[in-house]
Amino acid sequence: MVQLIRRELETLRERCAGRVVTRQDADYDVLRSVWNGAVNRHPAVIVRCSGPGDVSAAIGFAREEDLEISVRGGGHGFGGSAVTAGGVMLDLSALRLVEVDPAARYVTCGGGATWADLDAATQAYGLATPGGTISHTGVGGLTLGGGFGWLTRDFGLTVDNLESADLVLASGEYVHASASDNPDLFWAIRGGGGNFGVATSLAYRLHPVGPEVHVAILFWEAERGPEAIEAIEATVPELPERIGVLIGFGMSAPPAPFVPVQHRFRPGHVLILAGFGSAEHHAAALAPIRQALKPLFEFVAPMPYTQLQSLLDESAPWGVMGYERALDLPSLPLEARSVICEQAARKGSPMSFMPTFRLDRAFTAPADDATAFGGTREPHYTMSITAMTPSPGDLPAEREWARAAWEALRPYARGTGSYVNFLTDPDEARVHAAYGQEKYARLAAVKAVYDPDNTFHLNANIRPGRQGDGSSP
Ligand code: FAD
Repeated sequence: MVQLIRRELETLRERCAGRVVTRQDADYDVLRSVWNGAVNRHPAVIVRCSGPGDVSAAIGFAREEDLEISVRGGGHGFGGSAVTAGGVMLDLSALRLVEVDPAARYVTCGGGATWADLDAATQAYGLATPGGTISHTGVGGLTLGGGFGWLTRDFGLTVDNLESADLVLASGEYVHASASDNPDLFWAIRGGGGNFGVATSLAYRLHPVGPEVHVAILFWEAERGPEAIEAIEATVPELPERIGVLIGFGMSAPPAPFVPVQHRFRPGHVLILAGFGSAEHHAAALAPIRQALKPLFEFVAPMPYTQLQSLLDESAPWGVMGYERALDLPSLPLEARSVICEQAARKGSPMSFMPTFRLDRAFTAPADDATAFGGTREPHYTMSITAMTPSPGDLPAEREWARAAWEALRPYARGTGSYVNFLTDPDEARVHAAYGQEKYARLAAVKAVYDPDNTFHLNANIRPGRQGDGSSP
Protein backbone atom coordinates (compact mmCIF):
# COMPACT_ATOMS: atom_id res chain seq x y z
CA MET A 1 0.00 0.00 0.00
CA VAL A 2 1.20 3.45 -0.88
CA GLN A 3 2.36 5.49 2.12
CA LEU A 4 1.51 9.14 1.80
CA ILE A 5 3.64 11.43 3.87
CA ARG A 6 2.11 14.09 6.08
CA ARG A 7 3.17 16.99 3.82
CA GLU A 8 1.38 15.56 0.76
CA LEU A 9 -1.79 14.99 2.75
CA GLU A 10 -1.62 18.54 4.07
CA THR A 11 -1.46 19.78 0.47
CA LEU A 12 -4.60 17.81 -0.37
CA ARG A 13 -6.37 19.11 2.75
CA GLU A 14 -5.51 22.68 1.77
CA ARG A 15 -7.01 22.14 -1.68
CA CYS A 16 -10.26 20.51 -0.53
CA ALA A 17 -13.18 22.01 1.36
CA GLY A 18 -14.43 18.52 2.26
CA ARG A 19 -12.72 16.14 4.69
CA VAL A 20 -9.67 14.12 3.73
CA VAL A 21 -9.85 10.83 5.60
CA THR A 22 -7.09 8.25 6.18
CA ARG A 23 -6.64 5.08 8.27
CA GLN A 24 -5.94 7.33 11.26
CA ASP A 25 -9.56 8.56 11.29
CA ALA A 26 -12.16 6.81 13.41
CA ASP A 27 -14.71 6.65 10.58
CA TYR A 28 -12.26 5.35 7.92
CA ASP A 29 -13.70 1.81 8.00
CA VAL A 30 -17.27 3.07 7.72
CA LEU A 31 -16.44 5.36 4.82
CA ARG A 32 -14.55 2.72 2.83
CA SER A 33 -17.36 0.17 3.18
CA VAL A 34 -19.84 -0.35 0.37
CA TRP A 35 -23.09 -2.28 -0.10
CA ASN A 36 -21.31 -5.55 -0.94
CA GLY A 37 -19.84 -6.71 2.37
CA ALA A 38 -17.41 -8.98 0.49
CA VAL A 39 -15.49 -5.89 -0.70
CA ASN A 40 -12.67 -5.13 1.74
CA ARG A 41 -10.24 -2.69 0.15
CA HIS A 42 -8.18 0.02 1.82
CA PRO A 43 -7.85 3.31 -0.04
CA ALA A 44 -4.86 5.46 0.91
CA VAL A 45 -7.16 8.48 1.12
CA ILE A 46 -10.89 9.08 1.04
CA VAL A 47 -11.93 12.56 -0.08
CA ARG A 48 -15.40 13.51 1.14
CA CYS A 49 -16.13 15.76 -1.83
CA SER A 50 -18.22 18.82 -1.00
CA GLY A 51 -18.53 20.02 -4.60
CA PRO A 52 -16.94 19.97 -8.06
CA GLY A 53 -13.92 21.90 -6.73
CA ASP A 54 -13.02 19.03 -4.37
CA VAL A 55 -13.53 16.49 -7.13
CA SER A 56 -11.18 18.41 -9.40
CA ALA A 57 -8.59 18.88 -6.61
CA ALA A 58 -8.70 15.19 -5.65
CA ILE A 59 -8.29 14.08 -9.26
CA GLY A 60 -5.34 16.47 -9.70
CA PHE A 61 -3.74 15.21 -6.49
CA ALA A 62 -4.19 11.55 -7.45
CA ARG A 63 -2.63 12.16 -10.84
CA GLU A 64 0.33 14.06 -9.39
CA GLU A 65 0.98 11.28 -6.88
CA ASP A 66 0.32 8.56 -9.46
CA LEU A 67 -2.48 7.07 -7.38
CA GLU A 68 -5.46 5.12 -8.68
CA ILE A 69 -8.86 6.84 -8.51
CA SER A 70 -12.18 5.29 -7.57
CA VAL A 71 -15.54 7.05 -7.57
CA ARG A 72 -18.23 6.28 -5.02
CA GLY A 73 -21.79 7.33 -5.75
CA GLY A 74 -24.26 5.23 -3.74
CA GLY A 75 -21.74 2.41 -3.14
CA HIS A 76 -24.01 -0.25 -4.69
CA GLY A 77 -21.79 -1.54 -7.49
CA PHE A 78 -21.60 -5.34 -7.07
CA GLY A 79 -17.86 -5.53 -7.78
CA GLY A 80 -17.01 -2.71 -5.37
CA SER A 81 -15.45 -0.50 -8.05
CA ALA A 82 -16.18 2.46 -5.76
CA VAL A 83 -13.23 1.46 -3.56
CA THR A 84 -9.60 1.53 -4.74
CA ALA A 85 -6.93 -0.51 -2.98
CA GLY A 86 -4.25 2.02 -2.08
CA GLY A 87 -5.49 4.96 -4.17
CA VAL A 88 -7.77 7.95 -3.80
CA MET A 89 -11.48 7.26 -3.26
CA LEU A 90 -13.68 10.15 -4.34
CA ASP A 91 -16.64 9.84 -2.01
CA LEU A 92 -19.59 11.76 -3.49
CA SER A 93 -22.09 10.78 -0.81
CA ALA A 94 -22.29 14.35 0.52
CA LEU A 95 -23.41 15.58 -2.93
CA ARG A 96 -27.05 14.67 -2.53
CA LEU A 97 -28.97 17.91 -2.81
CA VAL A 98 -32.14 17.46 -4.91
CA GLU A 99 -33.90 20.46 -6.47
CA VAL A 100 -37.28 20.03 -8.16
CA ASP A 101 -38.89 22.42 -10.62
CA PRO A 102 -42.46 21.10 -10.54
CA ALA A 103 -43.77 23.48 -13.19
CA ALA A 104 -41.11 22.45 -15.70
CA ARG A 105 -41.26 18.80 -14.50
CA TYR A 106 -37.53 18.78 -14.03
CA VAL A 107 -35.20 17.65 -11.24
CA THR A 108 -31.49 18.17 -10.57
CA CYS A 109 -29.58 16.11 -8.03
CA GLY A 110 -26.02 15.73 -6.78
CA GLY A 111 -23.91 12.87 -8.13
CA GLY A 112 -23.97 11.09 -4.74
CA ALA A 113 -27.74 11.16 -4.19
CA THR A 114 -29.63 7.91 -3.64
CA TRP A 115 -32.98 7.04 -5.20
CA ALA A 116 -34.54 7.52 -1.76
CA ASP A 117 -33.32 11.15 -1.82
CA LEU A 118 -34.58 11.80 -5.34
CA ASP A 119 -37.95 10.05 -4.97
CA ALA A 120 -38.74 11.77 -1.67
CA ALA A 121 -38.18 15.19 -3.25
CA THR A 122 -40.03 14.57 -6.53
CA GLN A 123 -42.96 12.75 -4.91
CA ALA A 124 -43.73 15.86 -2.88
CA TYR A 125 -45.12 17.07 -6.23
CA GLY A 126 -46.52 13.70 -7.43
CA LEU A 127 -43.66 13.37 -9.94
CA ALA A 128 -41.00 10.73 -10.62
CA THR A 129 -38.41 9.55 -13.14
CA PRO A 130 -37.52 5.89 -13.77
CA GLY A 131 -35.06 4.68 -11.13
CA GLY A 132 -33.97 1.41 -9.56
CA THR A 133 -35.89 -0.97 -7.31
CA ILE A 134 -33.77 -0.63 -4.14
CA SER A 135 -33.97 2.82 -2.59
CA HIS A 136 -30.41 2.95 -1.21
CA THR A 137 -28.88 2.51 -4.69
CA GLY A 138 -26.98 5.54 -6.00
CA VAL A 139 -28.51 7.71 -8.70
CA GLY A 140 -25.02 8.25 -10.21
CA GLY A 141 -23.88 4.71 -10.95
CA LEU A 142 -27.36 3.47 -11.87
CA THR A 143 -27.92 6.30 -14.34
CA LEU A 144 -24.54 6.16 -16.04
CA GLY A 145 -24.97 2.44 -16.79
CA GLY A 146 -28.53 2.90 -18.16
CA GLY A 147 -30.95 2.33 -15.29
CA PHE A 148 -34.26 0.47 -15.22
CA GLY A 149 -37.01 -0.12 -12.69
CA TRP A 150 -40.76 -0.02 -12.16
CA LEU A 151 -41.37 2.91 -14.53
CA THR A 152 -39.28 1.69 -17.46
CA ARG A 153 -42.21 0.13 -19.37
CA ASP A 154 -43.88 3.57 -19.37
CA PHE A 155 -41.03 6.06 -19.55
CA GLY A 156 -37.95 4.12 -20.71
CA LEU A 157 -34.55 3.84 -19.10
CA THR A 158 -33.23 6.35 -16.59
CA VAL A 159 -30.86 7.61 -19.29
CA ASP A 160 -33.78 8.15 -21.66
CA ASN A 161 -34.95 10.75 -19.14
CA LEU A 162 -31.56 12.35 -18.51
CA GLU A 163 -31.53 15.95 -19.72
CA SER A 164 -27.97 16.93 -18.83
CA ALA A 165 -25.05 16.35 -16.48
CA ASP A 166 -22.18 18.37 -15.05
CA LEU A 167 -18.93 16.46 -15.00
CA VAL A 168 -15.37 16.88 -13.85
CA LEU A 169 -12.99 15.36 -16.39
CA ALA A 170 -9.70 13.54 -15.81
CA SER A 171 -7.98 16.83 -16.69
CA GLY A 172 -9.79 18.47 -13.76
CA GLU A 173 -11.87 20.62 -16.12
CA TYR A 174 -15.61 21.13 -15.66
CA VAL A 175 -17.94 20.34 -18.55
CA HIS A 176 -21.67 20.35 -19.16
CA ALA A 177 -23.09 17.54 -21.27
CA SER A 178 -26.51 17.70 -22.93
CA ALA A 179 -28.02 17.26 -26.38
CA SER A 180 -26.52 20.61 -27.36
CA ASP A 181 -23.35 20.80 -25.20
CA ASN A 182 -20.68 18.17 -25.84
CA PRO A 183 -23.21 15.83 -27.49
CA ASP A 184 -20.61 13.07 -27.97
CA LEU A 185 -20.03 13.01 -24.21
CA PHE A 186 -23.77 13.18 -23.53
CA TRP A 187 -24.29 10.14 -25.77
CA ALA A 188 -21.50 8.22 -24.01
CA ILE A 189 -22.60 8.87 -20.42
CA ARG A 190 -26.05 7.50 -21.21
CA GLY A 191 -24.94 3.88 -20.74
CA GLY A 192 -21.15 4.06 -20.87
CA GLY A 193 -20.79 4.11 -17.07
CA GLY A 194 -18.28 6.16 -15.07
CA ASN A 195 -15.67 6.02 -17.85
CA PHE A 196 -15.74 9.64 -18.95
CA GLY A 197 -15.71 11.82 -15.86
CA VAL A 198 -17.22 12.35 -12.43
CA ALA A 199 -20.84 13.47 -12.61
CA THR A 200 -21.33 16.01 -9.84
CA SER A 201 -24.87 16.86 -10.90
CA LEU A 202 -27.53 15.14 -13.03
CA ALA A 203 -30.82 16.55 -14.37
CA TYR A 204 -33.90 14.55 -15.40
CA ARG A 205 -37.36 14.95 -16.91
CA LEU A 206 -40.19 14.04 -14.55
CA HIS A 207 -43.60 12.42 -15.07
CA PRO A 208 -46.80 12.43 -13.02
CA VAL A 209 -46.67 9.25 -10.85
CA GLY A 210 -48.69 8.38 -7.75
CA PRO A 211 -48.40 9.42 -4.96
CA GLU A 212 -50.60 6.31 -4.51
CA VAL A 213 -49.79 3.26 -6.62
CA HIS A 214 -51.16 -0.31 -6.60
CA VAL A 215 -49.02 -3.32 -5.86
CA ALA A 216 -49.65 -7.05 -6.30
CA ILE A 217 -47.22 -9.73 -5.12
CA LEU A 218 -48.03 -13.22 -6.40
CA PHE A 219 -46.16 -16.28 -5.11
CA TRP A 220 -46.08 -19.78 -6.59
CA GLU A 221 -44.27 -22.59 -4.75
CA ALA A 222 -41.20 -24.24 -6.36
CA GLU A 223 -43.10 -27.49 -6.99
CA ARG A 224 -45.27 -25.65 -9.57
CA GLY A 225 -42.30 -23.71 -10.98
CA PRO A 226 -42.60 -24.69 -14.68
CA GLU A 227 -46.35 -23.91 -14.68
CA ALA A 228 -45.71 -20.58 -12.94
CA ILE A 229 -43.12 -19.58 -15.54
CA GLU A 230 -45.48 -20.69 -18.31
CA ALA A 231 -48.19 -18.44 -16.85
CA ILE A 232 -45.73 -15.55 -16.61
CA GLU A 233 -44.54 -15.99 -20.19
CA ALA A 234 -48.13 -16.22 -21.46
CA THR A 235 -49.28 -13.03 -19.77
CA VAL A 236 -46.44 -10.64 -18.88
CA PRO A 237 -45.48 -9.66 -22.46
CA GLU A 238 -49.15 -8.71 -23.02
CA LEU A 239 -49.42 -6.40 -19.99
CA PRO A 240 -50.81 -2.95 -20.72
CA GLU A 241 -49.20 0.42 -20.06
CA ARG A 242 -49.03 1.90 -16.52
CA ILE A 243 -47.89 -1.47 -15.16
CA GLY A 244 -44.33 -2.15 -13.94
CA VAL A 245 -43.09 -5.73 -13.63
CA LEU A 246 -40.41 -7.52 -11.63
CA ILE A 247 -40.10 -11.30 -11.44
CA GLY A 248 -38.19 -13.05 -8.66
CA PHE A 249 -37.33 -16.51 -9.95
CA GLY A 250 -36.13 -18.79 -7.16
CA MET A 251 -37.08 -16.27 -4.48
CA SER A 252 -37.81 -17.65 -1.03
CA ALA A 253 -40.93 -16.20 0.61
CA PRO A 254 -39.77 -13.58 3.12
CA PRO A 255 -40.76 -13.63 6.80
CA ALA A 256 -42.99 -10.59 6.10
CA PRO A 257 -46.39 -9.93 7.71
CA PHE A 258 -48.21 -10.45 4.38
CA VAL A 259 -46.78 -13.98 3.99
CA PRO A 260 -48.85 -16.68 5.72
CA VAL A 261 -46.72 -18.10 8.56
CA GLN A 262 -46.67 -21.64 7.09
CA HIS A 263 -45.17 -20.35 3.80
CA ARG A 264 -42.37 -18.16 5.17
CA PHE A 265 -38.92 -19.09 3.73
CA ARG A 266 -40.61 -21.45 1.26
CA PRO A 267 -38.75 -21.47 -2.08
CA GLY A 268 -40.75 -20.43 -5.12
CA HIS A 269 -41.24 -17.79 -7.77
CA VAL A 270 -42.61 -14.29 -7.30
CA LEU A 271 -44.26 -11.86 -9.69
CA ILE A 272 -44.74 -8.25 -8.63
CA LEU A 273 -46.97 -5.94 -10.63
CA ALA A 274 -46.93 -2.24 -9.82
CA GLY A 275 -49.89 -0.27 -11.14
CA PHE A 276 -49.59 3.43 -11.89
CA GLY A 277 -53.19 3.91 -13.06
CA SER A 278 -56.46 3.24 -11.22
CA ALA A 279 -57.14 0.27 -8.92
CA GLU A 280 -59.45 -1.10 -11.66
CA HIS A 281 -56.70 -0.87 -14.28
CA HIS A 282 -54.32 -2.76 -11.98
CA ALA A 283 -56.94 -5.42 -11.18
CA ALA A 284 -57.67 -5.92 -14.88
CA ALA A 285 -53.95 -6.39 -15.59
CA LEU A 286 -53.72 -8.94 -12.79
CA ALA A 287 -56.74 -11.03 -13.79
CA PRO A 288 -55.23 -13.04 -16.70
CA ILE A 289 -52.23 -14.07 -14.59
CA ARG A 290 -54.40 -15.22 -11.70
CA GLN A 291 -56.58 -17.12 -14.15
CA ALA A 292 -53.59 -18.76 -15.85
CA LEU A 293 -52.35 -20.20 -12.53
CA LYS A 294 -53.75 -19.45 -9.09
CA PRO A 295 -50.90 -18.36 -6.82
CA LEU A 296 -50.20 -20.13 -3.51
CA PHE A 297 -50.74 -16.75 -1.84
CA GLU A 298 -50.90 -13.13 -2.90
CA PHE A 299 -50.81 -9.66 -1.45
CA VAL A 300 -52.57 -6.77 -3.17
CA ALA A 301 -52.59 -3.25 -1.71
CA PRO A 302 -52.34 0.43 -2.54
CA MET A 303 -49.24 2.15 -1.20
CA PRO A 304 -47.28 5.37 -1.69
CA TYR A 305 -44.84 5.29 -4.63
CA THR A 306 -41.94 5.88 -2.20
CA GLN A 307 -42.96 2.68 -0.37
CA LEU A 308 -42.94 0.74 -3.63
CA GLN A 309 -39.45 2.11 -4.24
CA SER A 310 -38.25 0.65 -0.92
CA LEU A 311 -40.44 -2.49 -0.93
CA LEU A 312 -37.47 -4.75 -1.75
CA ASP A 313 -34.84 -2.98 0.37
CA GLU A 314 -34.82 -5.74 2.99
CA SER A 315 -34.15 -8.36 0.32
CA ALA A 316 -30.77 -6.71 -0.35
CA PRO A 317 -29.54 -5.15 2.90
CA TRP A 318 -26.40 -3.06 3.11
CA GLY A 319 -23.37 -5.20 4.06
CA VAL A 320 -24.63 -8.52 2.66
CA MET A 321 -22.03 -10.53 0.68
CA GLY A 322 -22.98 -10.55 -2.98
CA TYR A 323 -22.06 -11.75 -6.45
CA GLU A 324 -24.04 -11.63 -9.68
CA ARG A 325 -24.08 -12.69 -13.31
CA ALA A 326 -26.70 -11.47 -15.79
CA LEU A 327 -28.27 -12.59 -19.06
CA ASP A 328 -30.67 -11.11 -21.58
CA LEU A 329 -33.39 -13.63 -22.44
CA PRO A 330 -35.57 -12.85 -25.49
CA SER A 331 -38.32 -15.10 -24.05
CA LEU A 332 -38.87 -17.94 -21.59
CA PRO A 333 -39.28 -21.04 -23.79
CA LEU A 334 -40.34 -24.42 -22.44
CA GLU A 335 -36.79 -25.80 -22.10
CA ALA A 336 -35.56 -22.66 -20.31
CA ARG A 337 -38.35 -22.93 -17.74
CA SER A 338 -37.13 -26.27 -16.40
CA VAL A 339 -33.53 -25.03 -16.36
CA ILE A 340 -34.56 -21.94 -14.35
CA CYS A 341 -36.36 -24.20 -11.86
CA GLU A 342 -33.48 -26.67 -11.58
CA GLN A 343 -30.95 -23.91 -11.05
CA ALA A 344 -33.13 -22.04 -8.56
CA ALA A 345 -33.39 -25.25 -6.51
CA ARG A 346 -29.58 -25.45 -6.25
CA LYS A 347 -29.06 -22.16 -4.41
CA GLY A 348 -27.79 -22.53 -0.85
CA SER A 349 -28.75 -19.19 0.68
CA PRO A 350 -32.41 -18.21 1.13
CA MET A 351 -31.37 -14.67 0.11
CA SER A 352 -30.11 -15.67 -3.34
CA PHE A 353 -32.53 -15.42 -6.25
CA MET A 354 -32.87 -14.35 -9.88
CA PRO A 355 -34.50 -10.90 -10.11
CA THR A 356 -35.72 -10.56 -13.68
CA PHE A 357 -36.85 -7.32 -15.33
CA ARG A 358 -39.30 -7.26 -18.24
CA LEU A 359 -38.12 -4.55 -20.64
CA ASP A 360 -40.62 -3.60 -23.34
CA ARG A 361 -43.07 -0.85 -24.42
CA ALA A 362 -41.39 2.59 -23.85
CA PHE A 363 -38.02 0.87 -23.38
CA THR A 364 -38.11 -0.10 -27.06
CA ALA A 365 -38.89 3.41 -28.40
CA PRO A 366 -35.34 4.82 -28.81
CA ALA A 367 -33.13 3.42 -31.56
CA ASP A 368 -30.38 1.02 -30.42
CA ASP A 369 -27.72 3.66 -31.05
CA ALA A 370 -29.61 6.65 -29.60
CA THR A 371 -27.74 6.16 -26.32
CA ALA A 372 -24.70 4.14 -25.25
CA PHE A 373 -26.88 1.67 -23.31
CA GLY A 374 -25.37 -1.80 -23.82
CA GLY A 375 -27.57 -4.26 -25.63
CA THR A 376 -30.62 -4.16 -27.78
CA ARG A 377 -33.88 -2.22 -27.42
CA GLU A 378 -35.88 -5.29 -28.49
CA PRO A 379 -38.38 -6.48 -25.86
CA HIS A 380 -36.70 -8.98 -23.54
CA TYR A 381 -36.07 -10.09 -19.97
CA THR A 382 -32.86 -9.10 -18.18
CA MET A 383 -32.15 -11.73 -15.55
CA SER A 384 -29.65 -11.12 -12.77
CA ILE A 385 -28.53 -14.33 -11.07
CA THR A 386 -27.91 -12.80 -7.67
CA ALA A 387 -26.01 -14.65 -4.97
CA MET A 388 -26.39 -13.10 -1.52
CA THR A 389 -25.50 -14.40 1.92
CA PRO A 390 -24.77 -12.80 5.28
CA SER A 391 -22.14 -15.45 5.95
CA PRO A 392 -18.60 -15.07 4.49
CA GLY A 393 -18.09 -18.84 4.70
CA ASP A 394 -21.06 -19.46 2.39
CA LEU A 395 -20.06 -16.93 -0.27
CA PRO A 396 -17.77 -19.21 -2.37
CA ALA A 397 -20.56 -21.80 -2.78
CA GLU A 398 -23.16 -19.12 -3.61
CA ARG A 399 -20.79 -17.56 -6.15
CA GLU A 400 -20.34 -20.96 -7.80
CA TRP A 401 -24.11 -21.36 -7.86
CA ALA A 402 -24.50 -18.06 -9.74
CA ARG A 403 -21.77 -19.00 -12.23
CA ALA A 404 -23.20 -22.48 -12.85
CA ALA A 405 -26.75 -21.14 -13.27
CA TRP A 406 -25.45 -18.55 -15.74
CA GLU A 407 -23.71 -21.27 -17.79
CA ALA A 408 -26.82 -23.45 -17.74
CA LEU A 409 -29.02 -20.58 -18.99
CA ARG A 410 -26.62 -19.29 -21.65
CA PRO A 411 -28.18 -21.37 -24.46
CA TYR A 412 -31.43 -19.36 -24.05
CA ALA A 413 -29.75 -15.94 -23.88
CA ARG A 414 -29.05 -13.38 -26.55
CA GLY A 415 -25.23 -13.66 -26.67
CA THR A 416 -23.16 -13.48 -23.50
CA GLY A 417 -23.50 -9.76 -22.88
CA SER A 418 -25.95 -8.11 -20.55
CA TYR A 419 -26.44 -4.93 -18.55
CA VAL A 420 -23.07 -3.41 -17.53
CA ASN A 421 -24.43 -2.44 -14.12
CA PHE A 422 -24.93 -6.14 -13.36
CA LEU A 423 -21.29 -7.10 -13.95
CA THR A 424 -19.47 -8.14 -10.77
CA ASP A 425 -16.32 -9.02 -12.73
CA PRO A 426 -16.25 -6.51 -15.58
CA ASP A 427 -13.39 -8.08 -17.59
CA GLU A 428 -12.67 -6.86 -21.08
CA ALA A 429 -14.50 -9.69 -22.85
CA ARG A 430 -17.70 -9.14 -20.86
CA VAL A 431 -17.63 -5.38 -21.39
CA HIS A 432 -17.16 -5.92 -25.15
CA ALA A 433 -20.02 -8.44 -25.15
CA ALA A 434 -22.27 -6.01 -23.26
CA TYR A 435 -21.87 -3.19 -25.81
CA GLY A 436 -21.20 -5.08 -29.01
CA GLN A 437 -18.40 -4.17 -31.40
CA GLU A 438 -19.87 -1.01 -32.95
CA LYS A 439 -20.99 0.66 -29.76
CA TYR A 440 -17.76 -0.26 -27.98
CA ALA A 441 -15.70 1.33 -30.77
CA ARG A 442 -17.77 4.52 -30.58
CA LEU A 443 -17.40 4.61 -26.78
CA ALA A 444 -13.66 4.03 -27.09
CA ALA A 445 -13.37 6.99 -29.44
CA VAL A 446 -15.22 9.28 -26.99
CA LYS A 447 -13.04 7.93 -24.18
CA ALA A 448 -9.95 8.94 -26.16
CA VAL A 449 -11.22 12.53 -26.21
CA TYR A 450 -12.31 12.89 -22.57
CA ASP A 451 -10.09 10.40 -20.68
CA PRO A 452 -7.18 9.48 -22.95
CA ASP A 453 -5.03 8.08 -20.09
CA ASN A 454 -7.85 5.88 -18.75
CA THR A 455 -7.73 7.67 -15.40
CA PHE A 456 -11.25 6.40 -14.69
CA HIS A 457 -10.68 2.67 -15.09
CA LEU A 458 -12.32 1.20 -11.99
CA ASN A 459 -15.59 0.50 -13.82
CA ALA A 460 -16.87 -1.56 -16.74
CA ASN A 461 -13.84 -0.22 -18.51
CA ILE A 462 -13.76 1.18 -22.02
CA ARG A 463 -10.18 1.39 -23.27
CA PRO A 464 -9.39 4.67 -25.03
CA GLY A 465 -9.53 4.11 -28.77
CA ARG A 466 -8.41 6.35 -31.58
CA GLN A 467 -10.02 9.78 -31.80
CA GLY A 468 -12.37 10.04 -34.72
CA ASP A 469 -13.25 6.30 -34.74
CA GLY A 470 -16.98 6.66 -35.18
CA SER A 471 -17.49 9.00 -32.24
CA SER A 472 -19.85 11.35 -34.04
CA PRO A 473 -23.16 11.65 -32.20
P1 FAD B 1 -21.16 2.87 -6.75
O1 FAD B 1 -20.62 1.57 -6.28
O2 FAD B 1 -21.01 4.04 -5.89
O3 FAD B 1 -20.58 3.21 -8.17
C1 FAD B 1 -20.36 2.22 -9.13
C2 FAD B 1 -19.55 2.86 -10.23
O4 FAD B 1 -20.37 3.82 -10.91
C3 FAD B 1 -18.36 3.65 -9.74
O5 FAD B 1 -17.23 2.83 -9.58
C4 FAD B 1 -18.18 4.67 -10.82
O6 FAD B 1 -17.48 4.10 -11.91
C5 FAD B 1 -19.60 4.96 -11.23
N1 FAD B 1 -20.19 6.12 -10.59
C6 FAD B 1 -21.06 6.17 -9.57
N2 FAD B 1 -21.46 7.43 -9.36
C7 FAD B 1 -20.79 8.20 -10.24
C8 FAD B 1 -20.77 9.58 -10.53
N3 FAD B 1 -21.54 10.45 -9.87
N4 FAD B 1 -19.95 10.03 -11.53
C9 FAD B 1 -19.17 9.17 -12.24
N5 FAD B 1 -19.16 7.85 -12.00
C10 FAD B 1 -19.97 7.37 -11.02
N6 FAD B 1 -29.69 -1.30 -11.49
C11 FAD B 1 -30.81 -0.95 -12.15
O7 FAD B 1 -30.74 -0.39 -13.24
N7 FAD B 1 -32.05 -1.21 -11.64
C12 FAD B 1 -32.21 -1.81 -10.43
O8 FAD B 1 -33.33 -2.02 -10.00
C13 FAD B 1 -31.04 -2.19 -9.71
N8 FAD B 1 -31.15 -2.79 -8.52
C14 FAD B 1 -30.01 -3.10 -7.82
C15 FAD B 1 -30.13 -3.70 -6.57
C16 FAD B 1 -29.01 -4.03 -5.84
C17 FAD B 1 -29.17 -4.68 -4.50
C18 FAD B 1 -27.72 -3.74 -6.36
C19 FAD B 1 -26.51 -4.09 -5.57
C20 FAD B 1 -27.59 -3.15 -7.59
C21 FAD B 1 -28.73 -2.84 -8.34
N9 FAD B 1 -28.64 -2.25 -9.60
C22 FAD B 1 -29.78 -1.90 -10.28
C23 FAD B 1 -27.34 -2.04 -10.23
C24 FAD B 1 -26.88 -0.62 -10.00
O9 FAD B 1 -27.38 0.18 -11.05
C25 FAD B 1 -25.34 -0.55 -10.02
O10 FAD B 1 -24.84 -1.33 -8.97
C26 FAD B 1 -24.83 0.88 -9.92
O11 FAD B 1 -23.45 0.89 -10.21
C27 FAD B 1 -25.02 1.45 -8.55
O12 FAD B 1 -24.65 2.79 -8.53
P2 FAD B 1 -24.01 3.43 -7.20
O13 FAD B 1 -23.75 4.84 -7.46
O14 FAD B 1 -24.85 3.06 -6.03
O15 FAD B 1 -22.69 2.56 -7.09
